[in-house]
Amino acid sequence: MNVYDSLRMVDLMRTLGFEQTDTPDDADMIIFNTCHIREKASEKIFSELGRFKPLKEQRKKQGKDLILVVAGCVVQAESAEFMNRAGFVDIALGPQTYHRLPELLRRLEQKRKQRIIDVEFPAVAKFDFLPAAKSNGVSSFLAIQEGCDRFCSYCVVPYTRGAEYSRPLNEIVEEARQLAETGTKDLMLLGQNVNAWHGEGKDGTPSDLSRLVKAVAEIDGIERIRYVTSYPSDFTKEMIAMHRDIPKVMPYLHLPIQSGSDRILKKMNRRYTCAEYEEIVACLREACPEIALSSDFIVGFPEETDDDFEQTMDLVRRVTFAQSYSFKYSARPGTPAAAMKDQIPEEIKTERLEKLQALLIEQHAAYNAGFLGKTMHVLLEDKAKKAGYLLGHTPQMQNVVVKASEEFLGQIVPVRITKTAATTLDGELS
Ligand code: SF4
Repeated sequence: MNVYDSLRMVDLMRTLGFEQTDTPDDADMIIFNTCHIREKASEKIFSELGRFKPLKEQRKKQGKDLILVVAGCVVQAESAEFMNRAGFVDIALGPQTYHRLPELLRRLEQKRKQRIIDVEFPAVAKFDFLPAAKSNGVSSFLAIQEGCDRFCSYCVVPYTRGAEYSRPLNEIVEEARQLAETGTKDLMLLGQNVNAWHGEGKDGTPSDLSRLVKAVAEIDGIERIRYVTSYPSDFTKEMIAMHRDIPKVMPYLHLPIQSGSDRILKKMNRRYTCAEYEEIVACLREACPEIALSSDFIVGFPEETDDDFEQTMDLVRRVTFAQSYSFKYSARPGTPAAAMKDQIPEEIKTERLEKLQALLIEQHAAYNAGFLGKTMHVLLEDKAKKAGYLLGHTPQMQNVVVKASEEFLGQIVPVRITKTAATTLDGELS
C-alpha cells in the first residue's frame, strides 16, 4: 500500500511540473513515505532523516532550498514526537491527506520557515483529488479499499489509516482501465482488508470483491489479477469460486493466519479459529488445485506458551505454505497488546522464529522443487542484475530469473524451470 501511495504522490507532483530524480543531490524536494507497522520501520525513518539534514543545510548555505516532506503512518501515529525529533522537516502529513500536497506546498511557499503538519482524516476520500493513474511497468498496484474496522489487538492500522473505506466500483474500474491503457498487464488490488471491499455493482446492486474482480477482468489488456491482504472470516463462497471461474484471477492467495493457537488468536482479536481457516483453505484448494498459499505469522505474542507455539508449528505442517512472512511480535504504542501482561522475552521470540522459519523455508523449497522441469507462463517484468537475464513472476507469484534479451520485457512467455530454491526459480525460454 505504501508503494502505491508513493507512486500516486509521484503522479500528483507531476501535475506541478516535478519529475523523479535518481539521486537526492538532484532533488528540489524529497518525500519520505513511512510505515509504522513494526518498531524497526519507524526508528529507521528517524535515522534516514538525520542523513538528509546536512544536505538541507548545505543547500541553505548555497542560497537554495531542499524541501523535506514526510508522509505516511509514522507521522499519523507520532505527529508530536515526530516534529520534536525531526524539526528540520518542512511538511509532515498522514496517509489520508497526501492529495493535499500541492496545497501544503503553496502554504509553505507563502509562509517560509513555518513547518506544516496535516494528520486529519478528511471526510472526502483522497482518491477524488488524485490525477489519472499511469503505469510504471507491466505490474501495477491499485488501492480498492483502505483502513480497517477489525482492530486486531497488535495492529496500528485502524488508528493510522482510519475506518474501513471501499472505493466505488466505477472509480476502480476506471483506474484499472487507465493502467491497462498505459501498459499494465498484471494488477494487484490492494486493501488493508481487501476482501471486505463492498460497493454497488454496475447495475446498482450490492457487490462484493468477486463482482468487482469480474468487472476488472473484463478490461482488455489486464491479463493477471491478484488481491492482497485478505482477512479469513471475510472470505465468501463467491470469492472462492472466482479462483475457479475467472481465468485472469491468478492461482495465488495471501491469507494471513498469524497463529496456530485458537487461544492466541482470541487474544489477538482475530475472529476465526484454526479449524475455520483450514476449512477455507480446503475449499480453495478444491476450487483451484494449483493455488499457491501464502500467509503471515507472528511469534512471541504476549502470553504465547511453548504449547501455543507448537500448535502453530502443527498448523504449518498440516496446511503447508508456498510462501510466507513471519515476524517476532513487536509492541506498537497505543495498541491493546502492548499493555498485555506476560510479554515474551526477546530470546524466546528469536528461538521460536528461527524454528518456524526453518520449517516454512523447507516448505517453500519443496513447493518450488515440484516445478523443476515444468514449463510455466512467466511475465517478464524487469532486468536482472546479471546482464542478459530478466526477472519475472509465475502465475503462482514465484520469482523467476530467465535468460532472455530485453525485447521480451513486458511479455508473458513460456519458461522451462531449470533450477529451484526456496525463494527463486531459474528458467530458460522454451
Ligand atoms: S485485519 Fe489486518 S489491518 Fe485490520 S486490524 Fe487486523 S492486522 Fe490490522
